[in-house]
Amino acid sequence: MSAEIICVGTELLLGDILNTNAQFLALELADLGIPHYYQTVVGDNPSRLKQVLAMACDRSAILIFTGGLGPTPDDLTTETIADFFGVPLIEQVDIIEDIARKFAQRGRQMTANNHKQALIPEGAKVLPNPKGTAPGIIWHPRPGLTILTFPGVPSEMQRMWRETAVPYLKGQGWGQQIIYSQTLRFWGIGESALAEKVASFFDLTNPTVAPYASQGEVRLRVSARAPSQGEAIQVIEPVVKQLRQIAGADYFGVDTDTLASVVGQLLTDANQTVSVAESCTGGGLGSMLTAVPGSSDYFLGGIISYSNDVKVSLLGVKSSDLDKWGAVSKPIAQQMALGVRSRLTTDWGVSITGIAGPGGGNESKPVGLVYIGLATPDDRVECFKYNFGRDRDRASVRHWSACYALDQL
Ligand code: ATP
Ligand code: MG
Repeated sequence: MSAEIICVGTELLLGDILNTNAQFLALELADLGIPHYYQTVVGDNPSRLKQVLAMACDRSAILIFTGGLGPTPDDLTTETIADFFGVPLIEQVDIIEDIARKFAQRGRQMTANNHKQALIPEGAKVLPNPKGTAPGIIWHPRPGLTILTFPGVPSEMQRMWRETAVPYLKGQGWGQQIIYSQTLRFWGIGESALAEKVASFFDLTNPTVAPYASQGEVRLRVSARAPSQGEAIQVIEPVVKQLRQIAGADYFGVDTDTLASVVGQLLTDANQTVSVAESCTGGGLGSMLTAVPGSSDYFLGGIISYSNDVKVSLLGVKSSDLDKWGAVSKPIAQQMALGVRSRLTTDWGVSITGIAGPGGGNESKPVGLVYIGLATPDDRVECFKYNFGRDRDRASVRHWSACYALDQL
């Protein structure tokens, strides 16, 4: 038993306006724990609107319409729905009075076309609109089917939703459950590789597990339906535990955790400090670390050693090694990490040197080649080589470099 959102308006199809009504209603339905599987945008066109209606009332129990309730000829939602169910429209005197009163308050005369907004399908209830002139309807055209209509104007729709529709739906027994989600975050594993490892979880129905990926990070959203958040957490917890176990070190955090915040927590717990030496990321790693509130406790600073001269003068990188290996190389990454660690006297030193592109690469050192150096509290130095691919854009190489540096840290 699910809800479906149908937004009516040619301007939505043309891309003139963003469909924020669908987003608002989707979030609200999730909050109420009412499942919803379909959203449709349809133009101001009766026959296409009827096609949408035919499909929607076969598969959903609540149809939520926005848009097309105005007085102009292109506003066709109410009459088309009534026509679809073969029910006549009845003029409601109290709506006309209400519209006339609103016009009078604004010192204006009500026009003839506003009468259209007082036409309600026989048997439907009025869903009052305290802000605007166009009321909506609450209607059960057949058993087990609820239709709600709202004007397109977001502020009017939202107020009507909260003040009337939500209490109504709750009164009908909907929205007794909440949906509660946790998003598990992974770094260092691709979406398909993770999906393969946890494939069996995608068949679960409560909680559900769904993957999605963005900018090199993979996430699994675990959502449960339950009467309360506490009960939902109980449903989620065992699944979250198993997913974390399967993913091992590729799991780094949950919900608002970031690689930088998790690194920060680890450093805080260990009472250790870090400094950075950055070449191709130009401060991106420092920026991520300092985006975390309280990072001054463990992040002391960094050196943006973009030129070879600065690598030599401020980090103590050997000129002879730069000549021999080039700036993008394992020995230079290691010397940068050791250099910044000793000059800023921190427990850890992290370095990044690479070719962000689009120019500057060659056969042996292509765009996307990045070395990350890690000087450790016990005076060792490690180096990690990445090849992000020569077709990567500059922004991605820089972003990924900083993320992998955090991951190694
Ligand atoms: P009106 O009485 O204003 O004509 P209406 O119910 O006929 O109300 P529409 O004409 O469809 O509504 O839309 C009115 C305005 O509301 C649009 O111009 C647009 O700015 C906004 N709007 C409509 N639909 C949406 C939507 N899905 N998401 C965001 N804004 C919307
Ligand atoms: Mg309109």
